[in-house]
Amino acid sequence: MIAKTRAISDVLNMTTSLPTIHFTNPKKIYVSVTNARCKSAEVYVKPGDKVKIGTVIGKRNGGYFEQNMHSTVSGTVLGIVKKWHRTGKMVDFIEIENDFKDDYEPTIYERTDEEISSYTREDYIERVKNNSLIGLGGSTFPTYIKLQSCLDKEIDTLIINGVECEPYLTTDHRILLEHPNKIFEGIKYLRNATGAKKVYICFKKKYDDLYQVLSEVKKRHMDLPIEIKRVENFYPQGWEVALIKTVTGKVIPSGDLPQNHGVVCFNASTAFGMYRAIRLNMPVIERNFTLTGDGIKYPSNIRMRIGTPLSDLLELCGGYISDKPKVLIMGGPMMGACLLKDDAVCSMSCTSAIVLEDKEYKEEPCIRCASCVYSCPCDLQPVLIMKAVKVKDIEALKKLHVDKCIECGMCGYTCTSKINLTDYMRQAKKLVK
Ligand code: SF4
Ligand code: SF4
Repeated sequence: MIAKTRAISDVLNMTTSLPTIHFTNPKKIYVSVTNARCKSAEVYVKPGDKVKIGTVIGKRNGGYFEQNMHSTVSGTVLGIVKKWHRTGKMVDFIEIENDFKDDYEPTIYERTDEEISSYTREDYIERVKNNSLIGLGGSTFPTYIKLQSCLDKEIDTLIINGVECEPYLTTDHRILLEHPNKIFEGIKYLRNATGAKKVYICFKKKYDDLYQVLSEVKKRHMDLPIEIKRVENFYPQGWEVALIKTVTGKVIPSGDLPQNHGVVCFNASTAFGMYRAIRLNMPVIERNFTLTGDGIKYPSNIRMRIGTPLSDLLELCGGYISDKPKVLIMGGPMMGACLLKDDAVCSMSCTSAIVLEDKEYKEEPCIRCASCVYSCPCDLQPVLIMKAVKVKDIEALKKLHVDKCIECGMCGYTCTSKINLTDYMRQAKKLVK
């Protein structure tokens, strides 16, 4: 039994000290035509078309925003195929065969300091939009919309979130450690685009190596009002609302935007993406990814092309450790979704995958211990929500404010009876939609 807790200590990282492997040569990549935020799209290419890295091959529509789709390899368009999306749905993907020539669009090249210094806030937003930068911590929220929302607001604080609090995950740690100069440059652009007065780079206290590296790099950027902030080593300290409270003391009400309170947050990988979008005019063609767990031979940190099949990355990591059944999770162990097969595609929003040896566990009846209530960071009552889901009582679900649930997984993790409460929370949110 897990004692009542509001924090899960982070002791399961297997890849913290492993340098990132650059995997740029999948035979084929797959670009999803639609995704969780974009329900419709236009495709600009047809089978046989030649593309380069960065070629715009379509545009997704997300209701209040739009998003270019880019090829992440050079090669030939093969057509549209159905594949598993990380959300567990079968969707249309544009299939592109890699010619391994790595030809880039001529629009991608290094801009001079002089050119960048002439950019207005609107210029930053336009470049970020064209390059389809999104929240690379997994939120997938379009960065240009977030930047636009800062235009008419007084932003006091910019927070760079490198906390990555779910157990097992190390992408933010590695990207901050391996690319600190470029991330500082990305932060400079984010500050110019938001007008923020001060900046905090946040990560877990336990990472002494990161503290030393960032402190050294900071000395070379004395013009930037940056504070390096070490936060506690537990889940869910990286949740935006919790982090803002830790850093600024401000409490952001549920459903409100941090920007309305003078704060804006970006993930560390997004800051790196900002550097690439502004300095190189580079779309999001790659991302850092942690592939880990006790079910694979060589857990690794990988920088992969967007659209790489997960099976390619599993092969890169030496494959499964045994023939025994595995649990495959796309995302972190707390908030990720279980996959039925390993032929899913790793999209822009995929931070990680975890492969675990399958262990039998049996759900027991609820004993009303209230562990789930105590652990919920949103002050919800998961046990009552579960009961309302079972009888489909939508009015009760509304009164229980299930819409505030952030699907953090704390209630299921701490449940004494091993009930998959997070799954009930997801069902409940669907019922009240
Ligand atoms: S999954 Fe939802 S209900 Fe459960 S602890 Fe997290 S926020 Fe609370
Ligand atoms: S659902 Fe689980 S954690 Fe919540 S009261 Fe019941 S047994 Fe306890």
